[in-house]
Amino acid sequence: MGIAELRVQAQLSPKQLAQIAGISRATLQRLEQGHFGNLRTYERIAYALQTDLANILPEFKAPSRPTSEDLLKDLLANSGSAAPEDMPELPAGNWSPTRLTDWLLCPAKGAWSTGVFDVPSDFEWPTYERAAVGKAVHKYAESRLGGEDPNAALLTVADTTVGMDPELWLPFVEAWDASIHLTIGMPQTIEQRLEVVLGGHRITAVIDVVDENGTIRDLKTTQRLPNPISTARESLQAPIYVAAWRETTGEMASFALDYLAHHKSGIDYVQMPISVTDTDIDRVTRQLDYAADLASRPERIIPNPINKYGCTSCAFLVLCHEKFGTLTLDAPRQTVAVS
Ligand code: SF4
Repeated sequence: MGIAELRVQAQLSPKQLAQIAGISRATLQRLEQGHFGNLRTYERIAYALQTDLANILPEFKAPSRPTSEDLLKDLLANSGSAAPEDMPELPAGNWSPTRLTDWLLCPAKGAWSTGVFDVPSDFEWPTYERAAVGKAVHKYAESRLGGEDPNAALLTVADTTVGMDPELWLPFVEAWDASIHLTIGMPQTIEQRLEVVLGGHRITAVIDVVDENGTIRDLKTTQRLPNPISTARESLQAPIYVAAWRETTGEMASFALDYLAHHKSGIDYVQMPISVTDTDIDRVTRQLDYAADLASRPERIIPNPINKYGCTSCAFLVLCHEKFGTLTLDAPRQTVAVS
């Protein structure tokens, strides 16, 4: 029997059960529809319904292979700040790891997202729930490292996440406190905005924290852990941050990603150190050269539908259809007979 049936049996409305369990109605609704939640939420509901936890836990299904759309959402949520309003204008402004990621995924995507191609004023910029969760968890970590106690930090986050279901970010902040906070020690710097010039290209890097051992730490919230080898091989953030830190302090720092991965059974903390050498910084400099060259000569930009993730979940699909005639599902082109 599921949560909904047990609730009806207990003669409780969704509102009453949500209140007794201390969760939002949206969370309850999701769980009643069969979506997965975190264990603590099920425990609260089981307690409110006075039933055994095993009676309400959903049937475990083996996780399916992540789709490329899932992987892209994670990439966009974790490549840095994904919100265009957080970034200065291109081509006049600075580069960032996020912007470079867009250009390397597809030059047309880079041009749309940075204003090199004109985006219509009524264009609806995509919002990514996972990026919003990541921002909330970063805010909490920043507040805690800045000296706030857990309750004050939770209030700070709640103030900046009005309208978002707290169940989306609460498990992550609990996991951050339990797994990561102590490993940072006395931070050397928190939320430090730095600039570095690589190959003549000015880049902004916003470092989450440098821990007491001098390691640059970058927090990621995710639904699944990426492959550590390809993460290290493809990282733009690590070489840029290490180069920016060296330009500012004269010291070569180490770099590590702190992953909080949300599984059905809870949240795992995994640290992925990424070693950075001058070769890696040189690789990113060449990637910047490539992107900046295209940005300065936008007439040479061509859409690249054969990127790793394809066009299907790209926010600029309709704009590309109008500019380049690429295919959309909504506007199929006429079939041309080929002899
Ligand atoms: S729709 Fe495809 S071609 Fe156009 S920007 Fe997005 S990924 Fe590139």
